[in-house]
Amino acid sequence: MAFIEVRNLSKRYTMGENIIIANNNLNFEIEKGEFALIIGPSGAGKSTFLNILGGMDRASDGSILIDGKDITKLNERELTSYRRYDMGFVFQFYNLMPNLTALENVELATQIVKNAKNPKEVLRDVGLEDRMNSFPSQLSGGEQQRVSIARAVAKNPKLLMCDEPTGALDYKTGKQVLSLLKDLSRTTGTTVIVITHNKAIAPAADRVIEIADAKIRKVTVNKNPETID
Ligand code: ADP
Ligand code: ADP
Repeated sequence: MAFIEVRNLSKRYTMGENIIIANNNLNFEIEKGEFALIIGPSGAGKSTFLNILGGMDRASDGSILIDGKDITKLNERELTSYRRYDMGFVFQFYNLMPNLTALENVELATQIVKNAKNPKEVLRDVGLEDRMNSFPSQLSGGEQQRVSIARAVAKNPKLLMCDEPTGALDYKTGKQVLSLLKDLSRTTGTTVIVITHNKAIAPAADRVIEIADAKIRKVTVNKNPETID
């Protein structure tokens, strides 16, 4: 059995008289430790899927098994705990606390977690040892995204979920961030799932899940993924 098994997963939204099918009977799997990409056009249903996987939204039908446990059956309290301890989130616009330094941002996230990593070490791992005491406004976009990745990784999550982490970055900086995320999957064994518009990065991923029109269009598994240059 795979680490993540998505089975007949559907999500419908009701908008007045209209029903929007955002995820239509998705079936796929992701193995532990993979660097997996979710790609597809805007409105295809990528964020909807990631929100359900992250415990931020509920499926309409189907199931998601993680380590054999169906997370669609969790109650609200279990779901909160799942989000808090099992998940690391990275967003397009970083979501850092502006009045806290890089280090304080990471420390804040680790306070609630039992087996958290050392915030300073994680900031070192993402290449920010010299910027730990900077505030977000003093950092470039790429650096702010590194802080937000450090904040997520320091919780020692089972799963790192990144919704368009390069969306606000230029191409080169975005590639460096994707390269860092891939390295982290290798060095920490954390499963990393990334929504991106950067198709050029697909050959460097272990698995590429293409979603179009709420359905899975194609899943590609790369046995020997390329390196990100
Ligand atoms: P993108 O993939 O371009 O970053 P989003 O994933 O944020 O965009 O949203 C995709 C589409 O879903 C957009 O057309 C947006 O208007 C719509 N959308 C997102 N959230 C909601 C919502 N809460 N209610 C209605 N429509 C939404
Ligand atoms: P993507 O991330 O691939 O851009 P989304 O998952 O954001 O796509 O959106 C998929 C579809 O679901 C879109 O048609 C969008 O408008 C719709 N949608 C997303 N969130 C909501 C919501 N909260 N309420 C209603 N419709 C939504």
